Amino acid sequence: MNKVLIIGAGGVSNVVVHKCALLPEVFGEIVLASRTKSKCDSIAQAVLKRTGKQIITEALDADNVSETVALIKKHNPALVINVALPYQDLAIMDACLETGVDYLDTANYEPKDEAKFEYKWQWAYQDKYKDARLMALLGSGFDPGVTNMFCAYAQKHLFDEIHHIDIVDCNGGDHGKAFATNFNPEINIREITARGRYWEKGEWKSTDPLSVSQKFDFPGVGERNMYLMYHEEMESLCQNIPGLKRIRFWMTFGEEYLTHLRVMQNIGMTRIDEVEYKGQKIVPLEFLKAVLPDPGSLAENYTGKTSIGCVIEGIKDGKKSRKFIYNICDHAETYKEVGSQAVSYTTGVPAMIGAKMILQGHWKKEGVYNMEQLDPDLFMEDLNKYGLPWQVEEWSNSVK
Ligand code: NDP
Repeated sequence: MNKVLIIGAGGVSNVVVHKCALLPEVFGEIVLASRTKSKCDSIAQAVLKRTGKQIITEALDADNVSETVALIKKHNPALVINVALPYQDLAIMDACLETGVDYLDTANYEPKDEAKFEYKWQWAYQDKYKDARLMALLGSGFDPGVTNMFCAYAQKHLFDEIHHIDIVDCNGGDHGKAFATNFNPEINIREITARGRYWEKGEWKSTDPLSVSQKFDFPGVGERNMYLMYHEEMESLCQNIPGLKRIRFWMTFGEEYLTHLRVMQNIGMTRIDEVEYKGQKIVPLEFLKAVLPDPGSLAENYTGKTSIGCVIEGIKDGKKSRKFIYNICDHAETYKEVGSQAVSYTTGVPAMIGAKMILQGHWKKEGVYNMEQLDPDLFMEDLNKYGLPWQVEEWSNSVK
């Protein structure tokens, strides 16, 4: 029977554990480990109540490789699902290598002292994973994750050549707070305040943070202003979609959110370097995380929907074609189902499906893989089955 070790006990983890618990034929035993064991215990209790499945819980500091190695040896899982923070990726990949276990995550490694997300650190494990005959699946969340799969599906079934991809991400929900982030505030704010970047004709082009925007009519939500940002899946997609000429990533933000962010930036609260405070060193952004609402706590009163997809332009049967592949997810429905808001849900469900693909042998490979390098068909079927149904439409309006 397959045993999995899930590391991290935040918003995304709650969804992964619930969804794995509902598939005992794939995930026979589940061990949940995180820095704060009480958070693992609350998820385990909620899962037991909803699904009847017992979850084993453990305390773990995953920055410490030998601690993770010892825990893996104790439980002997077939796969480690990393839904802690991007800072832990390399340490957990090392522990998996040392113990001979496959690895999966939802976000690429970021060094703590520099807001820079790049695959180079994890891609550097390619030979080590190949030699050990292990698989590391990178970015099996929604974006990255499902968005990569939408592109792989489009490449396989909808286009002969893909020229342009615009990934558009809208959270049209309302949690009733003046300011809160939908996933880990530290990671989220580092991402949003970074310079924008997109890839065109083989080159990266850079823009001032949130300086390029346009309106987009999101299915299920309506018209919203979306902003050009850098996002990690572009780095692998621009290499893995042959013939691609341009790829961009856009995310929506409300005026209220942007005003709060601007003020926090102007007063130095989003800094990631240490400052001296009453004889102690503190990082302002880490302190800000401590006073902002826990993303998990937003779920109860969240209304509205997320609407995320890929507008893809290219050629099919000698003619120009533009398609939009997307998913709409309702915050109140995901709360009813697993007690989480839709941003955690849209990340946790693909993490479970990616794990299922590996454990069932459909995606069992050797080396380090981004999602679009794998066959999309069974994964896309499972999205429909396990809570993230998707649509494909002819799309008349181009993204400017
Ligand atoms: P949370 O902050 O809610 O949860 C993170 C969890 O990791 C917490 O339980 C935290 O423990 C734990 N953790 C942090 N450091 C360590 C450590 N050293 N050892 C063990 N556990 C640790 O984050 P989310 O659940 O919102 O996000 C989880 C991951 O999913 C992140 O990497 C995020 O970037 C990614 N993500 C990916 C998306 C996608 O679409 N691909 C979208 C959204 C998120 P503690 O409670 O003690 O702090």
